[in-house]
Amino acid sequence: MSEFDYDLFVVGGGSGGVRAARIAAGYGARVGIAEEYRYGGTCVIRGCVPKKLFVYASKFSEEFEDAAGFGWSVGERSFDWERLIDAKDREIARLEGVYRRNLERTGVEMFDTRAVLEDAHTVHLMSDGRRVRAKTILIAVGATPNVDASLPGCEHVITSNEAFHLSDFPKRVMVAGGGYIAVEFAGIFNGLGAETTLIYRGEEILRGFDDDLRKALHEEMEKKGIRVICGDVFKSIEKTADGLVGTTRGGETLEADQILFAIGRRPNTAGLGLDAAGVAVSQTGAVIVDGQSRTNVPSIYAVGDVTDRVNLTPVAIREGHAFADTVFGGREWSADHSLIPTAVFSQPEIGTVGLTQAEALAKHGGVDVYRAHFRPMKHTLSGRDEKMLMKVLVEPEGNRVVGVHILGADAGELSQVLGIALKMGATKADFDATMAVHPTAAEELVTMREPSERIRS
Ligand code: NDP
Repeated sequence: MSEFDYDLFVVGGGSGGVRAARIAAGYGARVGIAEEYRYGGTCVIRGCVPKKLFVYASKFSEEFEDAAGFGWSVGERSFDWERLIDAKDREIARLEGVYRRNLERTGVEMFDTRAVLEDAHTVHLMSDGRRVRAKTILIAVGATPNVDASLPGCEHVITSNEAFHLSDFPKRVMVAGGGYIAVEFAGIFNGLGAETTLIYRGEEILRGFDDDLRKALHEEMEKKGIRVICGDVFKSIEKTADGLVGTTRGGETLEADQILFAIGRRPNTAGLGLDAAGVAVSQTGAVIVDGQSRTNVPSIYAVGDVTDRVNLTPVAIREGHAFADTVFGGREWSADHSLIPTAVFSQPEIGTVGLTQAEALAKHGGVDVYRAHFRPMKHTLSGRDEKMLMKVLVEPEGNRVVGVHILGADAGELSQVLGIALKMGATKADFDATMAVHPTAAEELVTMREPSERIRS
């Protein structure tokens, strides 16, 4: 008899944990997994998936408007929030079922409970008090939204978690933050008909993204009717008979039915027993790991947002897969965190891969910027005042394309394909040699002949 109940015990049934559990079980490992909420984790249950469904829902308002330019008369329109929530909930329940069945099929034992580490090999299952012992433990508990606890009235705000389950559709919404979640939810609420304000502490939204893209998104959001306030934060929030009143440091008084805080997420490690197990964490509570997702305790690994490396679902999945292949499949590899394409489902959408202009200049000492800022064909008839932005950044020495940044319809889809080209080390000459697909917006990527700017440091 083995001294362990499991070869692997996974704490957290999200993207990274589930992938690791299934792959390890496929190699014949005895695997257990604990999830305290719902299988599928943040991405499936209260993140990427329901968010994207909401984005689809919110885009119809513009589609109805644009239709007129193409000869359509669209009759009276109304939006039913409850029906959207019901439809979204059904889809999420279906996906959770798929996650559960896939785990079952590979022989992974599921526990619907919070689990807490007690030492390097012991996990305490809180629902029934059982203790299980595993040769290897994987921490994949993800992250949780931050709220500014020092803000007077912070108990009145919601986070993205609650935004998916509001009983009434808010007519006036304020979103605090300028990152992925803030710009995405501002677009959703605005598209669904709420009077929407975004308030961000910095100079320009989406810090870390290419500057032209940030500015262009800001402009497009305002054209759609979203009020974007930069350089300001809430000082206090009060509940009144009419809803909520937020006062900002800059002296604004803003009224809303809901205030959504999207000011980042923190690793979900509070009360997880990492102290007892001797697992080292960073100042922000992230589990510290090496390139192979190993913690300082030899029997404990961690993947996904809890490690605060690159907080994206596909990254967690790949980290989980690499861990399971390496530890249980005798095939050692690690997730490559370079050149990760990403999409922001703002409206318009962002798709990006590689270095920003500023990063390219700093890294290569120079950058050739190919920029196209144009009205997409659809809007010649729709009459909508919306522009698409495409930037291709080329390092001057080897002529390699080091970054591509797109704002506009389907930018996320494009970034996936561009990710392949950049990963293969495509040069500007490769882009030029590729035949255009006509008529598309993407053809701009291969038809920009002369740089708009040649910048040298
Ligand atoms: P982000 O880290 O993207 O953005 C956080 C925002 O909040 C920043 O604008 C930040 O400002 C601001 N902020 C931080 N602290 C405060 C504070 N105390 N007061 C006011 N503002 C503050 O986090 P999100 O919450 O938007 O998203 C979390 C993660 O989820 C992202 O990192 C992303 O990886 C992932 N995600 C990915 C999506 C996708 O792939 N499409 C969609 C949604 C989330 P500053 O810039 O000044 O620091």
